[in-house]
Amino acid sequence: MSLEPAISVTPSEIDKVNLLGLSASSLGDLFEQMGEKRFRGTQILKWIHQMGVCDLDQMTNISKPLRARLAELGEVRIPEVVSCQDSVDGTRKWLIRVDGGSCIEMVYIPERERGTLCVSSQIGCALDCAFCATGKQGFNRDLTAAEIIGQVWIAADSFNQFDVAAPRRVTNVVMMGMGEPLMNFDNVVDAMNLMLDDNAYGLSKRRVTLSTAGVVPALEKLGDVSDVSLAISLHAPTDELRNQLVPINRKYSLDEFVASARRYLEKMPDKRRKITVEYTLMDQVNDRSIHAKQLAELLRDLPCKINLIPFNPFPGTDFKRVTNTALNRFRDILHRDGYTVTVRTTRGDDIAAACGQLAGQVNDKTRRQARYKKRLEEREGEHSQALDRESRPIKVIG
Ligand code: SF4
Repeated sequence: MSLEPAISVTPSEIDKVNLLGLSASSLGDLFEQMGEKRFRGTQILKWIHQMGVCDLDQMTNISKPLRARLAELGEVRIPEVVSCQDSVDGTRKWLIRVDGGSCIEMVYIPERERGTLCVSSQIGCALDCAFCATGKQGFNRDLTAAEIIGQVWIAADSFNQFDVAAPRRVTNVVMMGMGEPLMNFDNVVDAMNLMLDDNAYGLSKRRVTLSTAGVVPALEKLGDVSDVSLAISLHAPTDELRNQLVPINRKYSLDEFVASARRYLEKMPDKRRKITVEYTLMDQVNDRSIHAKQLAELLRDLPCKINLIPFNPFPGTDFKRVTNTALNRFRDILHRDGYTVTVRTTRGDDIAAACGQLAGQVNDKTRRQARYKKRLEEREGEHSQALDRESRPIKVIG
């Protein structure tokens, strides 16, 4: 599929403010600058995010002349849905084109009592975790607040949620799609505030989760401006192993990361809240008993629950899914140590929508995508000369 934009956008359109990403307060500022009352901002917010109306002409509680003046400054631009695929298990994946032509992916996972939308924050990702398909795509740019909240708008529209009588399909949002949310701090915080705003999507802070791989300075800042739920992506219990799997660990160690997560919790008024610890299990990499014991030790004083994620393979990866025996053993060790442990069921495998598989179509500025493809080609050549079926990408440590 071509990576070029399918629609051309004229410079005058780009110059207009995308009202989609503005808070009630920013919209209020806009109206104030126009010499109007601030409450008009809340009216616009409701039209866009509660009623799904993007055409300013349909916002009938705003006078026609004011709508015309607003249209000179701004418009509502929803990102373009390129495709929408449904899995046999009910998971839905969207490919969404954003300004510049790159595409991001978003996934909806229905469960018995909730429906979770997994939203992207960047085009690609600069952090390059060893086991992640997004990381292999390289990095293009941060998404704007409009492009982040636009994903929630698209899902709400897709499930007819702008009809108040329709059942709520999206009950939870997790910032766990493509990208590291804390590397795009301001836009992510702005978009999450819209998710929480009662005049927009009105989700509870417990139902909006930010997941980070460990950008410690930004995590310190987050606790001062937000109190959404936090997930920390550990994937290894020691610095030695994590340095190989999650390269940002070389900058901010596990101890610093876990301490920062603890401080985030301490800033929350509700002292019963817990952090979710994400741990992707890969066969013979980080799935041994010793790793489970080390993880239990590392998290000793952190109020948390642990979510074990069996690795989901993607084309070109050497990592393998954990065996059921190793998964059960790992879970049981943590259980015995008193931890609440859940195992994430793989969803949307048939449409490559499972955790860690999101790739989109990134116009890569880092050239990592090209280097990765070249490495794969070279390796395929080597494999055809000497097939080494037992090779492992990373040595077991501990
Ligand atoms: S796991 Fe998350 S932080 Fe790591 S490369 Fe993938 S998207 Fe980026």
